[in-house]
Amino acid sequence: MVEVKQEHEKCIGCGACAAMCPDNWEMGPDGKARPKDTKPKEVGCNKQAESVCPVKCIHVKE
Ligand code: SF4
Repeated sequence: MVEVKQEHEKCIGCGACAAMCPDNWEMGPDGKARPKDTKPKEVGCNKQAESVCPVKCIHVKE
């Protein structure tokens, strides 16, 4: 099982995760990113989103 977590309050809204992994990350109305699915079947590009986040607020467990 894949688990995708975000420490939402830490997000600085840089957009890197949404650019790297638009399949599972989008920018919300508060200007911060949010995951589309927190328990996806496949990890897909979520690991890349985790790596690219400058404040390390994305955590992906497989
Ligand atoms: S990469 Fe990190 S800081 Fe940037 S929008 Fe995504 S979650 Fe927020």
